[in-house]
Amino acid sequence: MKLTVLGCYGPYPKAGGACSGYLLQDNDTKILIDCGNGVLGKLFQYCNDLNKLDAIFISHLHPDHMSDLMILRYAINIKQMMGKLANPIPIYLPASPKEDYDRIQYNSAFARNIIHEGTEIIIKDIKVSFKKTNHPIECYAMAFEKNNKKFVYSGDTRYFDGLVDFVKGSNLFLCEANVLQEHINENVPHMSARQAAELTMKAGLQRLVLTHFLPDIQPHAVSNEAKEVFPYILEMAEEGKCYFI
Ligand SMILES: [Zn+2]
Ligand SMILES: [Zn+2]
Repeated sequence: MKLTVLGCYGPYPKAGGACSGYLLQDNDTKILIDCGNGVLGKLFQYCNDLNKLDAIFISHLHPDHMSDLMILRYAINIKQMMGKLANPIPIYLPASPKEDYDRIQYNSAFARNIIHEGTEIIIKDIKVSFKKTNHPIECYAMAFEKNNKKFVYSGDTRYFDGLVDFVKGSNLFLCEANVLQEHINENVPHMSARQAAELTMKAGLQRLVLTHFLPDIQPHAVSNEAKEVFPYILEMAEEGKCYFI
């Protein structure tokens, strides 16, 4: 599997950047994971024909993870009317908050499927499973598995021990590290770089890619904090960069 970072900022982008969006490819399979602001223009650089997009997975309905769905639905609808796109695009997402869930549908742009913890989805030969995270609205971490390879994306979450088992066995863990340890308190619904690194150590993993960066925090401060805890392969997500799993 090959992961391309389309956007790695949250909850707002740096100049010229995009919020959460990742393209997972395997042979001719293409899966979009999250679709925050700025992601659609980047997606078209890698997948200009929406017929080739097999599925979309949305971790949660905060705007930095789904706002470009509002634009994508126009593209789908217009391409359907022009005869360039035959079917709605399958999308897998939480059903709450209900007003956001309801607002996503536009004509027949999407074939919506509601996800829960315990749901298992198969897209071609990739198995997708979900773990509810600790965040102010319903949010899921996601595991993508094929043969003996596993890729996990944290979604947005505070640190909690329950995530360790879900992440175990990952060849690559893409984990949010929105803040530094000094910023952590009960009002911050995200992980620090140190917490992301500690979680990865507890899961016994050797490869961590940090993401969901706050533009006002220096990237080297994030990576240095994680490196103090995690001595293995540590990378900072970069827009346009590919990671092989
Ligand atoms: Zn976010
Ligand atoms: Zn969020």
